[in-house]
Amino acid sequence: MTGKKTENTSEKRMHILGTGTATVSKYVNTACVFDDGESLFLVDGTGGSDVLRCFDAMNLDWSKMHYGFLSHEHTDHFLGMIWVLRNIGELIINDAYEGDFYLYGNDVVLDKAYKVCQMIIKPQGMALIGTRIHLVVVEDMEEMDLWNCHFTFFDIGSTKAKQFGFHMVWPDGTRLVFPGDEPVTEHGEQFCGDADWLLSEAFCLDRDRAIYRPERYHHLTVKESSMMAQKHHVKNLLLWHTEDDTFGQRKKLYTEEASRYYDGNIWVPDDWETISL
Ligand SMILES: [Zn+2]
Repeated sequence: MTGKKTENTSEKRMHILGTGTATVSKYVNTACVFDDGESLFLVDGTGGSDVLRCFDAMNLDWSKMHYGFLSHEHTDHFLGMIWVLRNIGELIINDAYEGDFYLYGNDVVLDKAYKVCQMIIKPQGMALIGTRIHLVVVEDMEEMDLWNCHFTFFDIGSTKAKQFGFHMVWPDGTRLVFPGDEPVTEHGEQFCGDADWLLSEAFCLDRDRAIYRPERYHHLTVKESSMMAQKHHVKNLLLWHTEDDTFGQRKKLYTEEASRYYDGNIWVPDDWETISL
């Protein structure tokens, strides 16, 4: 990682739960938790009960998390969110969680989340959905202040499944773009110019393109993600949602490739790393 820890002392942090693409066994699927020093904001759920293990390993406090975002319905992002809803429901039932939990997402993904819960969550937990646990549908380009940031949610224009990303502005003006797990399209590009942070998928190294054929899944190589970040003068590029064959060497190899095409700060985090934003 060439990205230096920022010197500022504000408590703006990002806890990386996972960094893998869908079919990995050495990483947790891509997800993170933003932390303002007082409370937490979850982005995607991982592919399953990994999310519980991550919270435990990273010492994250469920009772401090009242907001989350779910980008789309694919296994590696969606199924862990069902565990999140189940877990928060149990904490509420056991009087270990004060207040409500709000999950934001597009209409399609939240409808599916509701239906899955309806089929498999116990009635006592299900009764909390709509009362203490809220599934909040956001529209394309909808802006709102939630948690402690200003968000603009946007449709990334995926042809695979309806997927939203967001642009978030922190109270100190720090701008971060999360374009889901696909390349930034024209629609999302409007937020990328001079962004402080871009969280970009990078399926594999460009030299390994023939092996993984990332274009089949609408994914980019490290080179392509880096060129995109360079084009938009992004200050910090975080690469994740990757293959796991380079496990153990990924940070070095991905950083090397990215640095040939991008001259900002490059971050290739491991699972369970915490980054100061
Ligand atoms: Zn994915």
